[in-house]
Order: sequence, then C-alpha cells, then structure tokens
Amino acid sequence: MSNATNIPNQHAIVIGGSMAGLLAARVLSDHFARVTIVERDRLPIAPEFRHGTPQARHVHVLMQQGQRILGQLFPGLIQELEAHGAVYTDVTNDMLWLNPAGWTPRHVSGLEMLCASRTLIEWGVRQRLMNIQNVSVCSETDVQGLLTSEDKAMVTGVQIQPRSQAGAAKGATQMMHADLVIDTSGRNSKMPQWLTALGYQPPPESIVNAHLGYASRVYEPPTDFHGQWKAFYIQSAPPDHPRGGLIFPMEGGKWLVSTIGSGASKPPTDEAGFEAFIRSLRSPLFAQTLQKAKPLSPVYGFGSASNQWRHYERLAERPDRLVIMGDALCAFNPVYGQGMTIAALEAMKLGASLTEMQQRGLTGVTRMLQRKLGKLVAGPWSMATGEDCRYLNVEGVKLGRTTRIMHWYMDRIMALTTHDEEAHTLFTQVIHMVKPPTSLFHPHILWRALWGRRVSTQMQGPRREAMLNV
Ligand SMILES: Cc1cc2nc3c(=O)[nH]c(=O)nc-3n(C[C@H](O)[C@H](O)[C@H](O)COP(=O)(O)OP(=O)(O)OC[C@H]3O[C@@H](n4cnc5c(N)ncnc54)[C@H](O)[C@@H]3O)c2cc1C
Repeated sequence: MSNATNIPNQHAIVIGGSMAGLLAARVLSDHFARVTIVERDRLPIAPEFRHGTPQARHVHVLMQQGQRILGQLFPGLIQELEAHGAVYTDVTNDMLWLNPAGWTPRHVSGLEMLCASRTLIEWGVRQRLMNIQNVSVCSETDVQGLLTSEDKAMVTGVQIQPRSQAGAAKGATQMMHADLVIDTSGRNSKMPQWLTALGYQPPPESIVNAHLGYASRVYEPPTDFHGQWKAFYIQSAPPDHPRGGLIFPMEGGKWLVSTIGSGASKPPTDEAGFEAFIRSLRSPLFAQTLQKAKPLSPVYGFGSASNQWRHYERLAERPDRLVIMGDALCAFNPVYGQGMTIAALEAMKLGASLTEMQQRGLTGVTRMLQRKLGKLVAGPWSMATGEDCRYLNVEGVKLGRTTRIMHWYMDRIMALTTHDEEAHTLFTQVIHMVKPPTSLFHPHILWRALWGRRVSTQMQGPRREAMLNV
C-alpha cells in the first residue's frame, strides 16, 4: 500500500539500505511517486547477518525515542519485533548498571529499551517497508557516482553497477535518474570523493577518536540462571577504567555479550584474550555470570568506532537535490547507542521539510536540509565527543575549560543516580533522548547534585550488589 497522496515529485533514490536508508525511504514514500533503494548487498529474506553492516555483530539497543519514531512510521512494528523474540527491558529496573560512580538503584520507571540483534531490527523495518507499493530495492548494486545537470548545479541521479554472485562489481555502469538523491551509505560513504570528481570542495570533517574497539560473542544463558535481571551493563569509567561490558538479551533467549575498550585496553578477539578481558572488568559479577554460559559464536571485533562528522552544512557550494544523512553525515562513538535513533530523528526532519516544500518544489532542498540536519546532530555530537575527552588517548579534540566543568558536573550527576531514583530516571530519559540534556540542569536536580547527600563508597562493593538483588 502506498502512503502517497497528491505526490508532486516523481522519483527519489536512496543510496544504502541500512537503518538510515530504510527510514528515509519510508518518509520519502509519502512525497514521491517512486522510491528506489540502491544497496550493494544481497538483502537476506530472513534476519541474517550481511557484510554491509559489520556492526550488527555487536550489541544494539533501540532507545525509547527511536522506538517511538519507528512505531509512528510503522504502526505495530515494535510489537512484531517483540513477537520475534526482542526483549523489552525496563532500563532502571531490569538492568544491572554499574556506572562510573557505582551501582544504580533498581526501580520501575516504565522507560524501556528494546533489546534484539541489529539484524532483527533492520529486517523488521525492511519487511514493513517492502509492503509499501511505491518503494523498491535494487540490491547487489553499487552506486559509483552522481549524475548531474550540464552545469553541475543539480544532482539528477546516480551511476550504478550491478554486482556478480561473488560480490565483485561487474557489467557496464548504468544510469538511474531521480528528482532527489539521499546518501545513507554509512561511515565509509564516498560522497566527498564524488563531489570532488564533479569539481566541488569536499566537506570539512571533524573526527574525534578515542580509539575504541568492540569484541562480541553470542551466549546461551546457563540453564540454572536465576539472576533477577534481563540486562547487565558495566559502563567504562575513563581515564582510570577504560573497559566496559554488556550482557544484553536478544531473540531466541540468547545473550549478546559485547566488550568495549580504548587504546591498549581494546578487547581482544581471540577466545582466551576475550575471556581474560571479561575477568578484568570492574565487577567480578560479570565474569561469574558468564562462567556457566555456553558460547554459541566466534568472537567478532569492530575496530573503528570514532566520532566522524562531515560538515555538509558548511559547504558554500554544492549541487542541489542531494541530501546526506545517517552515519554518512555523522557517525558517533557507538557506546552511547544513539545511531539508529538519530537516523530516525533525521528521517522525521526530512519528512517535515518535504511537507514544508510541497507547494514550492524541491529547489533549495539541499541547503535547507543539511542546515537542519547539522543542527540536529550538533547536540548528540557535543555529548559524545565531550564524554570521549575523558579517554587519555583521545584525538581530535582539546579538553577545554567548559568540558572540564561539564565532566565535573556529570560526575556529580552520576554519583546522584546511584542513590536517587528520580535522578536516575531523569538521566536515563536524557540518554534515551526523550528529555533534553538541559533537564539535568533543572534547579531541582542541580541542587541535589551539588549539595545533596553523598553515598558512601563502601556501599558500592559486594554488600551493595547483594542489596541490588542480583
Ligand atoms: C559497534 C557498534 C555498535 C552500535 N550500537 C548501536 C546501538 O546500540 N544503538 C544504536 O542506535 N546505534 C548503534 N550503532 C550505530 C548504528 O549501527 C548506525 O548508526 C545505524 O545503523 C545507521 O547507520 P546507517 O544506515 O547510516 O549506515 P550503515 O548501517 O553503515 O549502512 C550503510 C549501508 O549502505 C550500503 N552501501 C555502502 N556503500 C554503498 C554503495 N556505494 N552503493 C550501495 N550501497 C552502499 C551498505 O552495504 C550498508 O547497507 C552502533 C554502531 C557500531 C559500529
């Protein structure tokens, strides 16, 4: 079924059929007669791993704001994912959370995260999208560059090349025309090179790299597991403790275990090294929990998790009718779990802007949208890169006075969340993007963070763990 009503535009192309591309395509289907996603991978019929999204081996959490938007774009989708085994987890009640200041209290807040493999989430969205009549996928096809008007002022489509069974590009390059091209081809997007080939300047790029790496493995929980929790998170506490770990539920009653570390503390991908890393985490409870769990997969690594922002909003000259979104625009250190939710927020921004432009046509769409998307990512960027400044080996950012003050204040907030349920809920709401970061500065919270009672650090040892009902 098409969602299209009174559609003034003919054809939109989306480069890349991952989360950002799928969500953009859903929104475009309301504004274009036809939407084509061009994706280099063969897209599996079932929820299976594919090479174009190597991050799918690692824990992916869909934040509350992301769930809201996905539910809005695809009514019933979240329930469908749950029916396929995704696990709803009350963040403040069902998760053991050792933050840099200590264990957080357990209490029901109703703030739930959806835990499932990245593969299942993407598959669920893709299935729903494929039911929309005016959306199609051109898979196993590489986009190789842009087509433009003669004066190069306007993008008019893309050059594509089909792939062979073996995955290599083959055959003659073909042309695919469109009124609007969206690039959602991820961190390794070739858009800067494609713009340069047309004679434009590439966008300036900010990279903040804390040299973080992931290593992950799927486990079967022990048959006699009686822990009264669904998820377990040991947050890294840089600079002293740059190592973290997650045991998160996924479909099929399994656990996906991800370990995270920076620089020399990057988690190894050999079995012995991975297990030793687990034993080195800030709480022995993590390793004890996994002792009797059965590994079901190899250990997979992911090594390039920097923050990377290509500033298309700053370009003085660029061709019109081209919009860059998702990780191709701004990719974050994934430890903050923001990527899919930001892709969803960007898709909503795209939809609202196209509605605004309905009467006057698409001219100027690039400038308008890149500016709006730049504003959207600026907040999460500051948060992620500001926190990354805590790592000793971070590159691309200076630890200025404002950041030091922010760290000092956030340390107070972290300490407060270990014994103040209201502050804990609020902090979680900010992380899940349902409340703005400014709410952490509300006088009510500020007062308690600065002058409230301090919890004894002795309460953060085994006695506290016992109290947490683990
Ligand atoms: C280790 C890790 C953990 C993460 N954890 C979380 C989390 O907990 N929560 C969360 O919200 N986010 C998380 N993220 C981020 C999240 O995965 C991404 O932000 C999200 O998937 C959006 O990415 P994207 O669609 O922009 O790009 P990608 O997912 O990178 O997809 C790009 C797509 O484009 C295709 N493509 C590339 N080039 C071409 C081309 N030339 N022609 C045709 N197709 C092409 C690729 O095959 C791929 O399908 C994590 C990321 C990593 C690395």
